Amino acid sequence: MTFVVTSNCQRCRFTDCVVVCPVDCFHGDAEMLYIDPDECIDCAACVPECPVDAIYDEAELPDHESRWLAINANRAASLPVVSEKVEPLPTAQARKQQLGF
Ligand code: SF4
Ligand code: SF4
Repeated sequence: MTFVVTSNCQRCRFTDCVVVCPVDCFHGDAEMLYIDPDECIDCAACVPECPVDAIYDEAELPDHESRWLAINANRAASLPVVSEKVEPLPTAQARKQQLGF
């Protein structure tokens, strides 16, 4: 089992989630974050921290977001760990409003 970052994180990347992760399993690129399924301990601490509800338990992943399970595993394996909060992307506030949050 793992938790999965999904499409709402794209162009957002608020990074509120990384601060609470006890095992530093978030990795990031210029657009969003990804969870390493081999490191995630399923604690769920990150879920309520995300202001755009981007993080799901693998078992509760909606069908339209299912492709993110493999994407998280693939991308996390080759990207650096993000363990400290950084500035959101310049597009973050507009994206958040667009998503209805
Ligand atoms: S808090 Fe949510 S939107 Fe922000 S980086 Fe984490 S998963 Fe992405
Ligand atoms: S569920 Fe826990 S271990 Fe997994 S990414 Fe979220 S905070 Fe980290």
